[in-house]
Amino acid sequence: MDESVKTMNEDKQTRPRGFTSDNIAGASPEVIAAITACASGQAVPYGNDELTRTVERQLAEVFEHAVDVFLVSTGSAANALALAAITPPWGSILSHADAHINRDECGAPEFYTAGAKLVQLPGGAGKIDIDALAANATRMAGDIHSVQPSSVSITQATEMGSVYALDEIKAIGHICRSANLPLHMDGARFANALVTLRCSPAEMTWKAGVDLVSFGATKNGTFGVDAVVSFRRDLASTIAFRQKRAGQLSSKMRFMAAQMDGYLRDGVWLRNATHANAMASALARGLALVPGVKIQQRPEANILFCRLPTSLIRGLLDMGFRFYHDRWEPGIVRFVTSFATTGADVSDLIGAATSLYAPIGSARVPAGAE
Ligand SMILES: *Cc1c(COP(=O)(O)O)cnc(C)c1O
Repeated sequence: MDESVKTMNEDKQTRPRGFTSDNIAGASPEVIAAITACASGQAVPYGNDELTRTVERQLAEVFEHAVDVFLVSTGSAANALALAAITPPWGSILSHADAHINRDECGAPEFYTAGAKLVQLPGGAGKIDIDALAANATRMAGDIHSVQPSSVSITQATEMGSVYALDEIKAIGHICRSANLPLHMDGARFANALVTLRCSPAEMTWKAGVDLVSFGATKNGTFGVDAVVSFRRDLASTIAFRQKRAGQLSSKMRFMAAQMDGYLRDGVWLRNATHANAMASALARGLALVPGVKIQQRPEANILFCRLPTSLIRGLLDMGFRFYHDRWEPGIVRFVTSFATTGADVSDLIGAATSLYAPIGSARVPAGAE
């Protein structure tokens, strides 16, 4: 067999077919290099090393603000630590009903806050409805029988793949300030939202009223490090003690810092997010041309929700493609792209959907479905 053909076929066989989440990707070469570079020699433990100082400086520059930085191993830990620092046990955290803190963290925010209540707010496209927030921001405040509204958490980009516009964040920030509620941002996909808005990290956060951020990096190029970034210096010591108490103060913090350094240096994080988002857009454009596929919402970040006929879902699964389906509603499918998704991965999926459609519908396959 012709060697080049053989390689191509093998390539096609082994090309990744997973679109379940962006956490199935590996790590960026820059991050790998950074972690390798700090793997020899000695460093002071528990975050008192030079590299951790460097990352603190980098993030202060990124956010154009004095910040306290706490590197942790999961986004759930970042969220729970941040929320615990601003919510007493008798408090409530206001968030969207579909928020990761509400649906996907096994009660970690309740646990870390020693029992605060999560209040679920409605809203389209995974974003908190502003009127619902206003109505709940001071609800039962002062009533000894009720949990006290204590903090607000928004997800940027949202779990539905949408992105809050700056004006929307500002409006939420305004309500929070009026009601004296600290505002937390779950930025597991911070970079993906940022490059969509084409604004500065400062504009998307403290300038709009955000007090602290879970700055995600794991889904966009590191092995596994996220950061609590706080603009409120008065929260530093409570977060620090909570981090240690939660078993999140890594003794070899230099390796956490090295990942973040490799991620932030030379704009790797922004390039990665731009690429991931472009892959989701390309996927949406391609799938939109496949009859029977209905795009739920144009992806604003790197997550695409669509409605697919059952036969098409089955067919794609049989071909080895992986994605969440029928979790939200029957027929609803979620595809997530990452910094490591290639144009070929996307074309494979679109091509497969197109080829599966042919026997389902009439014989004709629409042209130009790539
Ligand atoms: C992935 C994710 C997190 C963090 O999840 P971990 O598995 O704990 O790292 C937090 N928020 C959102 C919206 C996420 O998608």
